[in-house]
Amino acid sequence: MGEAVIFFGPPGAGKGTQASRLASERGYRKLSTGDILRDHVARGSELGRQVKPILESGGLVPDQLVLALIREELSGGKAPKVIFDGFPRTLAQAQALDQLLSEKQVALKGVLLLVVPQRELLNRLVKRAQLEGRTDDNESVIQRRLEVYEKDTAPLADYYRGAGKLMQIDGTGTQDQVFARIQGALNGGVR
Ligand code: AMP
Repeated sequence: MGEAVIFFGPPGAGKGTQASRLASERGYRKLSTGDILRDHVARGSELGRQVKPILESGGLVPDQLVLALIREELSGGKAPKVIFDGFPRTLAQAQALDQLLSEKQVALKGVLLLVVPQRELLNRLVKRAQLEGRTDDNESVIQRRLEVYEKDTAPLADYYRGAGKLMQIDGTGTQDQVFARIQGALNGGVR
């Protein structure tokens, strides 16, 4: 039986950083749809050309495209041990993922919701824009990404809470502090 952990929360909450660390310390494979999509854009693949304007506007890539990527990544025989970062982002994606996990006999260990106040998110994203130069990290696009999160993605917290999978993590403080909270939550299991 495989197992999966989902990192959930707004842009700038620290999902990517914490997911990478958990993946390397606990032997998970990290699947970040944002990284995969950016890689397609960088390589100029057909998918990359299709999604480039969407990423640059801060909107969401259509569910069918994202789900095709995830299916491809999870194809192959072995039951995976996987961390999802930035996926799912819509109810349709979450329902499709449930289906896929049950087909592949992968248990969902938990959905880690990283909670960070809006003002701090903005600060972090502006700082990241300066450091990394991501084309979707300018101020109007940052605003749009936060709005899209609130409208399309935040409601998924209720979906996973209802399923008894949601683990709410305080995402403020140092990276080490946040990581320690994540480990505590995972060791305690789903409440
Ligand atoms: P991220 O690095 O997770 O913030 O993702 C960067 C961008 O990629 C997002 O603003 C979306 O345009 C797109 N994206 C990433 N993951 C998804 C997803 N699960 N569903 C739809 N669009 C996505």
